[in-house]
Amino acid sequence: VEKILEETIVEGEDKTVAKSKLSVVFVTAEAAPYSKTGGLGDVCGSLPIALAERGHRVMVIAPRYIHGTAADKVYAGAFDANCRIKVNCFGGEQEVAFFHQYRDGVDWVFVDHPSYHRPGNPYGDSFGAFGDNQFRFTLLCHAACEAPLVLPLGGYTYGEKCLFLVNDWHAGLVPVLLAANYRPYGVYKDARSILVIHNLSHQGVEPAVTYDNLGLPPQWYGPLEWVFPEWARAHELDKGEAVNILKGAVVTADRILTVSQGYSWEITTVEGGYGLHELLTSRKFVINGIINGINVSEWDPSNDAHIAAPYSIDDLSGKAECKAALQKELGLPVKPDCPLIGFIGRLDYQKGIDIIQAAMPELLGDDVQFVMLGTGVAKYESWMRETEARYKDKFRGWVGFSVPISHRITAGCDILLMPSRFEPCGLNQLYAMRYGTIPVVHSTGGLRDTVETYNPYAVGPDGSGTGTGWGFAPLAKDSMLSALRNGLKTYREYKGSWLGLMKRGMQQDFTWDSAAAHYEQVFEWAFTDPP
Ligand code: ADP
Repeated sequence: VEKILEETIVEGEDKTVAKSKLSVVFVTAEAAPYSKTGGLGDVCGSLPIALAERGHRVMVIAPRYIHGTAADKVYAGAFDANCRIKVNCFGGEQEVAFFHQYRDGVDWVFVDHPSYHRPGNPYGDSFGAFGDNQFRFTLLCHAACEAPLVLPLGGYTYGEKCLFLVNDWHAGLVPVLLAANYRPYGVYKDARSILVIHNLSHQGVEPAVTYDNLGLPPQWYGPLEWVFPEWARAHELDKGEAVNILKGAVVTADRILTVSQGYSWEITTVEGGYGLHELLTSRKFVINGIINGINVSEWDPSNDAHIAAPYSIDDLSGKAECKAALQKELGLPVKPDCPLIGFIGRLDYQKGIDIIQAAMPELLGDDVQFVMLGTGVAKYESWMRETEARYKDKFRGWVGFSVPISHRITAGCDILLMPSRFEPCGLNQLYAMRYGTIPVVHSTGGLRDTVETYNPYAVGPDGSGTGTGWGFAPLAKDSMLSALRNGLKTYREYKGSWLGLMKRGMQQDFTWDSAAAHYEQVFEWAFTDPP
């Protein structure tokens, strides 16, 4: 490890390349294109490739979710690695298998077990979250700790000197297992772990009695121990005792990363810490934030198979075609000058759907069109359907998860609205900027870090002001409407300023390669003392 750290990052011809080679093991519940419900899947599908391109040996371990449907074909290139292991947890020995695909320089490893073979998304189905998620992700973590030791990928194992990137609570047992089950026996002494928090609101909390199922020694209960405040208890006999897997990871990981600098700070506050703010504050010297990159070849307006016409910063005419095609596809009047506003995302309280709901009657009183794409909470889905029926010429609510439609909305809209209550990073505003679509966002977390509010009075390099969109705060109907109205006025009356906004957004660098260089710096700190 010392030898690895002697070497540093060097400037290549067109991008920086790390000379030091690390063995990096991502542990995650989702990795696109195999599995994705949100940003976590995007990150774990792209960052590993960027790190591999920079010279590291990279493995991604995720469950093998197969449903017996056509969607299973994404796993067609991953073959049985002929390696079975027995995991001691949940009162017995659980056998899991590994599948493997080497693609884009990365070892994609899938843990196979019958509990991953069911319809729905990685976490649940239309009836809600699966009741055995603690079991499913405990298996993943045990298997992830064994994989670098037992899987001879490309002829040789990753070995003990590796860096685990554990993503969210589903992977949170990994650093606890390293500390409790491996290091005391001399294994993984030179390994390090970094907890990457994509969303702190999910922590893997289950009743305290389930601790015995996790395959940990009894004396390690403390790091996972979690006591609910009184108001959150179900009845008077409830002592509020629980185990919290993410808490265990916060305690035991060598370092902690979040997906934006803003969110790194927010998780140490009462409002954003979801009960973990004091613990996280105690570890703030090992916390950093790195904004996610985006997959710039998947999201490229000059070469995107999903959209009606290609366009670029030098020739934006294709964007008008995309707008007309989207209006047509949605059955909205094809009006080139009518501002088209979009929303894409999970229909969840986190995403501020209630604020959009409250603002909609006033907003649709104006000459605008609005399209929403998303799935999630049933009451929001029905509200979208009702609103569509009421405002036939102005509103479309597309209930579903569709990557092609999300590309067409990103390209065809003029404005993308993101009133997220909290947003660790947010990807849609990054896609929007790359497609010349102006983001209007609640100024929180990664949204505040990436969207600079338009300032017509500042003199930017292009002479047409500065900024790439509008941020608003507080999160309330009126402040959101006021930001949107600023946007609409600029769109209608100041065409040159609008063009400047579009172009500045399209010029932003959100490549994974620059994010990966920052990750390498944190990797180095994981092996040495913090700066
Ligand atoms: P989160 O991870 O909180 O859901 P992000 O903005 O980080 O939010 O990432 C969401 C990702 O999921 C983006 O790539 C977005 O385009 C995608 N997405 C969300 N909902 C849908 C949907 N209904 N159809 C297609 N893509 C979606």
